[in-house]
Amino acid sequence: MSDPTCKACQGSWPNGNHFIGDLGLSKAYLHEDQFFPGWTVVVFKRHATELFHLAPTERIQLMEEVSLVAKTLAQVYEARKINYELLGNQLPHIHWHVIPRLAGDPAPLEPVWRVQHGPLLRSGSELQSTVQRLQQAIQHAR
Ligand SMILES: [Zn+2]
Repeated sequence: MSDPTCKACQGSWPNGNHFIGDLGLSKAYLHEDQFFPGWTVVVFKRHATELFHLAPTERIQLMEEVSLVAKTLAQVYEARKINYELLGNQLPHIHWHVIPRLAGDPAPLEPVWRVQHGPLLRSGSELQSTVQRLQQAIQHAR
């Protein structure tokens, strides 16, 4: 069950070298913009656009997977708060943004979308080491 017009179904988003782990019904990726360090996206594996389209058991499991990522990010980044966002306006395929908000946050009272910034892209060994660190931490948190 995939949508040929959907970037998530076609595997062109998120970028494969940001892959953190297969969680069961979803996969976790480090978000390309790391202006907020640790920003992760949890992408449902099959095409669905709304939570109410999922079977109740899928919804429960997906929330367990999102919670595992959130717990991991909270520990790794010593977050003050985790933000959870399920929007889908630009890409209508269920994907949660799980965003640790840290002590030095530039706008702790605002959602990340309201914070004007250029995207902070990571690449090479810096990207690899962050992804590996999160892979290990998720294994440990399971
Ligand atoms: Zn899709």
